[in-house]
Amino acid sequence: ESGDELARRERIFASAQERYYDSPMQIERGWRHHLVDTTGRSYVDMVNNVAGLGHGHPGVADALNSQIRRLNTNSRFLYRELAEYSERLLAMLPAGTGLDTVLLVNSGSEAVDLALRLAQAATGRKTIVALREAYHGWTMASDAVTTSAFDNPFALENRPDWVHVADVPNRFRGTYRGAESDRTVGQRYAADFGDDLVRLGAEGRDVAAFVCESVLGNAGGVLLPEGYLADVYARVRAAGGLCIADEVQVGFGRLGSSFWGFEESGVVPDIVSIAKPMGNGFPVGGVITSKAIADALASQGQFFSSAGGNPLSCRVGIAVLDAMRDEGLQQNVAEVGERLSAGVRELAERHEIIGPIHGKGLYVGVELVRDRQTMEPASAEAAAICERLRELGVVVLTTSERSNVLKVKPPLTLSAESADFVLAQLDRVLTEGW
Ligand code: PMP
Repeated sequence: ESGDELARRERIFASAQERYYDSPMQIERGWRHHLVDTTGRSYVDMVNNVAGLGHGHPGVADALNSQIRRLNTNSRFLYRELAEYSERLLAMLPAGTGLDTVLLVNSGSEAVDLALRLAQAATGRKTIVALREAYHGWTMASDAVTTSAFDNPFALENRPDWVHVADVPNRFRGTYRGAESDRTVGQRYAADFGDDLVRLGAEGRDVAAFVCESVLGNAGGVLLPEGYLADVYARVRAAGGLCIADEVQVGFGRLGSSFWGFEESGVVPDIVSIAKPMGNGFPVGGVITSKAIADALASQGQFFSSAGGNPLSCRVGIAVLDAMRDEGLQQNVAEVGERLSAGVRELAERHEIIGPIHGKGLYVGVELVRDRQTMEPASAEAAAICERLRELGVVVLTTSERSNVLKVKPPLTLSAESADFVLAQLDRVLTEGW
């Protein structure tokens, strides 16, 4: 049956359509952090970071159902849901950020696209600096700042001249590996970034904005080195540019210790892009910024999105925020995330193939290497391990340009019991072979 479904897709899909597994199972339903296939097998879903509240959430279902029966229109009309949701989003920000304005769209790509446009409109400049190994979306502008060869092997070719790509501050690989401290790594990468800004200025390409994730997702969930982001933000601002935090993945409690990823680095961005978990699978995206920056958009005409900010997406968004609070999900992320990382650290004592363990909360990357000294990536091994884990009831997949990092981004509902199950299966695969 799954073969039929695959053939059906291949007939109607572009060959570039991405999919998980060479020979995928057909998913029938989902509940919390579990998926069930058409043969009745169940899996712990360790990758679905859109369904933050888990699959099949009743609060989201009720919100959708009741709102669509009552009213759904567009944001050119006046209705209370839009302001109510926007205020709820703003209330999630730390006090005193000056981020007081919301623009709602439908996806992360649109949110990043709009963030870039706002920055260019507000500064009157064009140049955007992005980091290597980043993913920011598939629209023309968000794709232009997407530099990761994981999704796109041609990512660095034909880049538009308004994009400058800065080095990825990965302490485990690259130029500053082995530096005396994490702080030093951060300082050196930030200094290099500063040199880039000076060069850009000399070329008449003054920076409009710098965009990055607060934890480097496509690089493998790599945490930014200590002090890096604050240092880089200061340099960008000194050069007259704005700072964009792409919180599409790391925001909304995923790191456990804070609701927003940028809080981990003690910085306040000028523009924040958000999406994925906002609607728990219902398409909701947005940008949060200051009024002054948002108002610069007037130079580009009027802003309107047919479904962005409609009563339905706002009601769903409110239900998501309610559930996050009522179910204590951020606290769960902190606890279960730590249990999971501690478990992997323990496995690393017995299994040489486990290299650096990246990330935080339920945004973790387990890097697999053939040699901890040379850091030779264990890419084929990682793929085989994922296949074997699937047979054992765990959906986990790889990321990074070397495809050697097991990416762990489950729904925020992941229980201690499921985390232990996943660790036991990983232990089994690494012990028995794959
Ligand atoms: N930014 C980041 C950091 C992302 O991870 C993604 C999606 N993987 C996007 C933007 C684009 O979001 P979407 O797929 O909703 O367009």
